[in-house]
Amino acid sequence: MAKWYHYLFTIAAAIIMSIFDALKAFGSTSVKVTCPECGYVTQQPALKVRKNITLVCPKCGHYFLPKDK
Ligand SMILES: [Zn+2]
Repeated sequence: MAKWYHYLFTIAAAIIMSIFDALKAFGSTSVKVTCPECGYVTQQPALKVRKNITLVCPKCGHYFLPKDK
């Protein structure tokens, strides 16, 4: 196999990874979380959700973890 093919693949992979990183950075601003009690959807910081920090529903005051479904 030609070496340029491998070289091209490496560059393409690097570009794709950087796009993923950019998307991750963009997505880290806020995410939609649905309250398991009343179904109210709120925007929550993605960092909180990722670390599974207890959230409070602004509508019904229910405490819940983002990963509770
Ligand atoms: Zn609620």
